[in-house]
Amino acid sequence: METKYIFVTGGVVSSLGKGIISSSLACLLKARGLRVTIQKFDPYINIDPGTLNPYEHGECYVTVDGHEADLDLGHYERFTNVPTTRANNVTTGRIYQSVIDKERRGDYLGKTVQIIPHVTDEIKRNVKLLGNTGKFDYVITEIGGTVGDIESLPYLEAVRQLRWEMGQNALCIHLTYVPYIRAAKELKTKPTQHSVKQLQEVGIQPDILVLRTEHDIPADMRRKIAQFCNVSPDAVIQSPDVPSIYQVPLKMHEQHLDEIVLRKTGVPVEGEPDMSSWLKFLDHMDKAEETVTIGLVGKYVELQDAYKSINESLFQAATYNDHKLNLVYVHSEKLNDDNVNEKLSGMDGVIIAPGFGHRGIDGKFVALKWCREHDVPTFGICLGMQCMVIEFARNVLGLADANSTEMDTTTPHNVIDLMDEQKSVTEKGGTMRLGAYDCVLAPGSRAAAAYGSTEVKERHRHRFEFNNDYRERFEAAGMRCVGENPDTHLVEVVELSDHRWFIGTQYHPEYSSTVLSPNPIFLDFIKAAITYKHDKQK
Ligand code: GLN
Repeated sequence: METKYIFVTGGVVSSLGKGIISSSLACLLKARGLRVTIQKFDPYINIDPGTLNPYEHGECYVTVDGHEADLDLGHYERFTNVPTTRANNVTTGRIYQSVIDKERRGDYLGKTVQIIPHVTDEIKRNVKLLGNTGKFDYVITEIGGTVGDIESLPYLEAVRQLRWEMGQNALCIHLTYVPYIRAAKELKTKPTQHSVKQLQEVGIQPDILVLRTEHDIPADMRRKIAQFCNVSPDAVIQSPDVPSIYQVPLKMHEQHLDEIVLRKTGVPVEGEPDMSSWLKFLDHMDKAEETVTIGLVGKYVELQDAYKSINESLFQAATYNDHKLNLVYVHSEKLNDDNVNEKLSGMDGVIIAPGFGHRGIDGKFVALKWCREHDVPTFGICLGMQCMVIEFARNVLGLADANSTEMDTTTPHNVIDLMDEQKSVTEKGGTMRLGAYDCVLAPGSRAAAAYGSTEVKERHRHRFEFNNDYRERFEAAGMRCVGENPDTHLVEVVELSDHRWFIGTQYHPEYSSTVLSPNPIFLDFIKAAITYKHDKQK
C-alpha cells in the first residue's frame, strides 16, 4: 500500500502531550499489523537538542544510530517498540543548514533562496524520507510547538502543500485544550475554536480533533465543536487525564481513533488491534498493590522531564515486578554526611543519575558511600557509574584525590579520564561517543545474570571513561569491571562482588526500555530492591 502521512499539530497551550497521542495512535496501528514510524519536527534553530540543558527541553534522548534527539522519540519507542533514528527528528537548524549548504554548492544557482519554496521544500523532502524507504505504511509527523508560533509557520505551510499533493494519503490531527473554569463550573470550547481558526487561516483543515481535558466533555459539546470546526462529529475525540500515559492508547481506541484514521486514509478496517501484550502490562499495573521506593539522586530534581527515560524504565520494571513505583527525588546538591541517613534510609534502592559538570557531584559521592556501606541496591548510570568508581577509589583504595578529569584536570588519580578519541575534539555539538555499542559481560557476573546473556548492545552519551591503568587495583579490592567493549576494551559495567546489588553502567540502558520489552537490568535492579525491602522488614 502507498505510505500514508499523518500530521499532528497542537494548539491553545503547549505540553498537551502530542507525543503521547502520536505514540498511542502508532501503538494501535501497529497492533493492527501495520508498519508505523513517528517523526518529530522541532521548530527551534539548534541542530539537535544535544546542546540544550534539561531546563530548556527536558531529557536529551539518544537513538541507536547515535543521534541526540527530542525526548518525544523516547515515547515513540516505548509505545511502539520500533527503534528510531536520526531521520525521526528534524529541527529548523538542520533544515536551514541543509538549505544553506545547497546554496553554497550552487544547487540553486541564479535563484533567490527563500522560505517558500526552498525551506518548505526541504521540510517536505525530510517529511518524506522515512516514507520513501518503503518500510512504513504510516508515517506520523508531530510538529513541535503550538499553532500561531512564528517559528512553526514554514512547517504548517509544508503540511498544507503536502496535504494538497497527497490527497487521501495525508491527514491532519489537531490537539487542543478544553479548560474547565471552576468558578463558572463550565468547560470552555472557545480556545479550541480559535485554535482551529488559526490553523484554517494557514490553509489547514484538521480532519480529527483530540481535546485534552480534565473533565468529561459531554457529547453535545463535542457536536458543537465539530460543527464550528468543520470536523465530522465522530472525529472529535476527548483525551481526559488518566493515571498512566500507558492507558491513553485504550482511551483512543474506545473512541475509534485508529478506525477513523484508517477510514479517512482509505484503508479497510478489519477486525480489532491485537493489544493482548499491552493489556497484560496494564493488568500488572492494576494488580500492583505493594510499593517499591527508589531514590533518584540527581541535580535536576525539580524538573519532571529531566530523567524521563529513567523514570519510565523504573516504572515499567516495577510494574512487571507487580509493584507500584514510589520514585523519590533526592537533590544531590543538598545531600551531605549529616542528612544522608535520614534522606536515604527509607529507600529500597538508589539510582545515581547521569549528568555533566561539577554541580551536585559531592552529594553523589555521599550517597554512594552510604549505599555501599549499608548494602542498599544501587545503580549508577553514566556519570553515576563514574561516581561509583571515584568514590571507591577515594574511600576503599585510599586514593584521596581521585577524580574524573571532567571535574579536576589536575587530579593525581584520574580514575575517570577523557577518552582518547575525544582529546582532539573542540566542537560541542554531536561530538560525544553516541549511540549503541557492543558490550561483553563476564560470565557469572550479576550483570550477565540480569541480562541472561553475555552480549548486549546499549546506547551511550559520554566523553569520559574508566581509566584502565587502575583496573587491577579496583578488581583486587572488589570492584570488578564485568562489562567491556570488545573492540576498544572500554569499561562498560562495574559491579561490587561482595554487595547485594551495586552496578554501574557507562551506557544508558534507560533508552532501550519499552513497555513490551522492558530493559533487563532495570527489571533486576527493581527485583533486588524488592528483596531488600522484604529483608529490611524481617
Ligand atoms: N559527563 C560524563 C561524560 O561525559 C557523563 C555523561 C553522562 O552521564 N551522560 O563522560
